[in-house]
Formats: sequence, C-alpha cells, structure tokens
Amino acid sequence: MRRKLAAGNWKMNGLRADLTQLATLAEQRGYDVDVLICLPATLIGSCAGLPIAIGAQDCHTATHGAHTGDISAAMLADVGATHVITGHSERRTDHHETDAIVAAKSRAAHDAGLITIICIGETLVQREAGTTLDVIDAQLAGSVPDCATADNTVIAYEPIWAIGTGKVPTTDQIAQVHAHIHARLTARFADGAGFGILYGGSVKGDNAAAIFAVPHVTGALVGGASLKAVDFTPIIAALA
Ligand code: 13P
Repeated sequence: MRRKLAAGNWKMNGLRADLTQLATLAEQRGYDVDVLICLPATLIGSCAGLPIAIGAQDCHTATHGAHTGDISAAMLADVGATHVITGHSERRTDHHETDAIVAAKSRAAHDAGLITIICIGETLVQREAGTTLDVIDAQLAGSVPDCATADNTVIAYEPIWAIGTGKVPTTDQIAQVHAHIHARLTARFADGAGFGILYGGSVKGDNAAAIFAVPHVTGALVGGASLKAVDFTPIIAALA
C-alpha cells in the first residue's frame, strides 16, 4: 500500500524567517503520512537536516547550460530536494508550458533522481462544457512521460477553478476524476495501479477528511493552507 502524502506548495511565498513554520511542523511528526513542502528554490538549501521532505516547484528540461535564470533538476537534488512539481496550472498559464514541455521537465527530473508531482486539471469553462475527462486524458497522455513509474511519479488533480478560490468540487466529482486517472494509469503502466493521486484546490482543515475519504485520493497538494503549520497540521492529521 502506497503511503499517503500531504504535500504543500508554497508557490512564490516565503523568506528565510518563514522556515520556522517547518520546524513547528517537524515537531508534530508521528503521523503515518509522508509530509513534503515544495519551497521556492531560494529556500531549499536552508532546510538540510529537517525531518520533512523538501521539494521544488519547477525545473528546466536541460541538465545545464546557457539558460539564464533557470534551475536544473540536478541542482535541486544537489541542495536536498527529493521532489519537484511539474506542470502546475500557474506555470502552464504564466510560462506557456505545454504538455510536451511538462513531460520533458518530468523526464529531466527523473534522470536526476527526483520524484515528480505532475499536475493536471480542467478550467471552469472546460468543466461546464462537459469536457473534463477529455482534458484529463490529453494531459495524462501528453504530460506524463513513458519513464514514469509508481516510484518516481505522483499525479496531482487540481481543477483550476478550485485553486485559491475556496470552491471545491463535490466528492462525487473528485471521485469520478480520480477513478478515471487511476484507470488510465493502470491501462498504460505496468505498475499504474500503484501511482499516488493527490487532490489539490482549496484543501483546508475542515474539508480534508471528506476529500481523503474519496476512493483513489492518496493525499493532497495544498497551497495557501500549507504556509502556516497551524493550518497544515489539521490536514496532515485528517490524512493519518
Ligand atoms: P490552494 O490550496 O491555495 O487552493 O492551492 C492549490 C494549489 O495550487 C497547490 O498546488
């Protein structure tokens, strides 16, 4: 049985002084859950020794070279990251990342020994048009590389309309998409049934238990409520 994963995504938030939140989180260990915080790249190297897994939020497709301002997967691993988010909807929008780019970044991450959290999810327009599962199929086919395994890849279903809005899909809607993702992965990969599948989008302490009770939800990718230990701890506890 795959261990459950409570993953935080700090996005473009956090100065060194905010790392005290991680120390507070670390003190509350003892849950049978993996806890991961995906930090801004500037903070990753300051977390050595903390008993919490540390991840990044993006990496480049190349191992090194003339790419001013970019960071390679090997550099992230070198400063202690074990995971990297790829294909977050904010990067797909802000940086025009296509499925092919997300797959290339994920391959680069795997080559560097990182575990990828590959994000997929529909817009509100797509949901209202009834095309959610088609969007999911296209993103799974295009963004998840053939080298993905249950050990090096976690999928995060993040409906874009639920991110940072306080709106959460019904548990039936989450169940439908997670079952679909599970079926597609099982059909494509020898170990597809073992992939972790996170839900992300306005997860809070008061809705986490209901979301985690949905079949094929193996954890959460949490934005705003991961920034403060006092908000993230109840989510970890709901998963435990
Ligand atoms: P919120 O939890 O703030 O809605 O963000 C979700 C998210 O985008 C995590 O990657």
